Amino acid sequence: MIRLQIDGQTVEVAEGTTVLQAAKQAGVHIPVLCDHPALTSFGSCRLCLVEVEGARTLQPSCTMPVSQNMVIRSKTPAVEATRKFILELIFSERNHFCPFCQLSGGDCELQNAALEHGMTHWPMQPNWNDFPVDASNTFLLLDHNRCILCRRCARACSELVGMDTLGFAERGSATMLTADLGEQWGMSTCISCGTCEQVCPTGAMVNRFSAYQGHKSQAEAVPTVCVGCGVGCQTVVYVRDNRVIRIDGDFDAELNAGVLCREGRFEALLEKGDRVSQPMVRKDGKLVPCSWDEALSAAAAGLKDQPAAWASLRLPAEALATMKALCDAVNAPVAMIEAGVTGPIPPKLGMKVEDKLGSKDGVLSTSEWRGSFTEVYNVHAGANFKAAQAYGLTKEINANGKKSALVALADEIPSEALLDAVKPVGKLVVLASYKSMLTELAEVVLPVATWMEQSGHYVSLTGTVQEGRQLVKPVETVRSSEAALAGLVEKMGCSVKADWQAVLA
Ligand code: SF4
Ligand code: SF4
Ligand code: SF4
Repeated sequence: MIRLQIDGQTVEVAEGTTVLQAAKQAGVHIPVLCDHPALTSFGSCRLCLVEVEGARTLQPSCTMPVSQNMVIRSKTPAVEATRKFILELIFSERNHFCPFCQLSGGDCELQNAALEHGMTHWPMQPNWNDFPVDASNTFLLLDHNRCILCRRCARACSELVGMDTLGFAERGSATMLTADLGEQWGMSTCISCGTCEQVCPTGAMVNRFSAYQGHKSQAEAVPTVCVGCGVGCQTVVYVRDNRVIRIDGDFDAELNAGVLCREGRFEALLEKGDRVSQPMVRKDGKLVPCSWDEALSAAAAGLKDQPAAWASLRLPAEALATMKALCDAVNAPVAMIEAGVTGPIPPKLGMKVEDKLGSKDGVLSTSEWRGSFTEVYNVHAGANFKAAQAYGLTKEINANGKKSALVALADEIPSEALLDAVKPVGKLVVLASYKSMLTELAEVVLPVATWMEQSGHYVSLTGTVQEGRQLVKPVETVRSSEAALAGLVEKMGCSVKADWQAVLA
């Protein structure tokens, strides 16, 4: 162990620790801009300079390793004045006119550092040239005017994601962040995972789905799990006024370590169409709103007649277990409805899953990405593929001769294949969050919660049981999938008790 002193405090840390990390352990705050705990240290912004006893000049604490009996001072007048001067230089380089920036007021690390160092104005006449704004990416926007060239984004794309899309061109004040060899971002090899935006300390990178919806400090940060596929990435979701305003990757997560894919970070926030907000039964050929009691009675009556069943792999384990127990009681076979992402999964994340699985296991597929030799992955299994397997759901069922069907969708839109499988069966009871071709065909429609409106458990492909937390409240007439199925169990007079945990143990 190495013993050193930081601002008068004695600390003991492991060999190889940097002065910045040692300071963190001692509870001493040192400001940074280019450094990020999930990335290798780079030492370019110089904001973390400290006095090291015996050294002739101030030293960057993020790259300096600790040594025995070192004495560090992080808040001397010389250190503070140098940091303020560095900030003044950064502010003079490009347009950091904060009132026009959506990060201003709490979420910008550059603005926060400036306020911490007493900057109230630009003492140096700013010499702004106009830099371009790249709006070619559907999910992200890049405003070069706000970029401080800290390189966090490029390091994240390389070290955490494995795409190496971002780099830098030119030198000195002409240095520019680039995608590939100067492509528009939206035309580049970028897979829109958004990891770069999550680590960007300024408003240079903008998440188009979250911009101008409020600061993180105004929202509740809820740790939960993505239900986009069986990888089961851990997330931190920001909720404000019963609305999800942003999804971040959790840097402390063992598997995804801050990284998410396009589906998990952005597309999960999209409404997929018109909501089913009330129970409905078909009367005189038309679906009409009714009470839950009436809809459940109609569903129970319809399913008495030789049922077959399909259940979404986006459903929580609690709902899947209830569904299987109900179907066993009425002798109905249950098939899985696949609902995994078909978009690209970051290569380093896919490789980690493959390593843990010990094989490709038929659920990950790889393809070479254009313009690069990096493999990207697709995950076809839904979030609860493993739980569904454990409960005994099968990929396909023989529905020949069946006269009614129970289809428990979650918040996905049904595929053509599912429609083709279900159509010939007859009387149809559908649990769904969104209106679709399937709800159009149904005799009874039960409105159920989306992934963000209900809690429940998910078993990842690597076998971890994780809790998905309820993030927002649905309207009163919408129930969780588990509650809707429990209501059906009761109406059908089945004496089943589903224990979702027992089978998984
Ligand atoms: S979105 Fe992902 S792949 Fe695209 S540049 Fe950023 S980190 Fe790289
Ligand atoms: S875009 Fe953001 S993270 Fe990337 S270099 Fe510029 S300021 Fe740093
Ligand atoms: S890889 Fe799967 S679990 Fe991870 S963010 Fe993407 S969809 Fe969600």
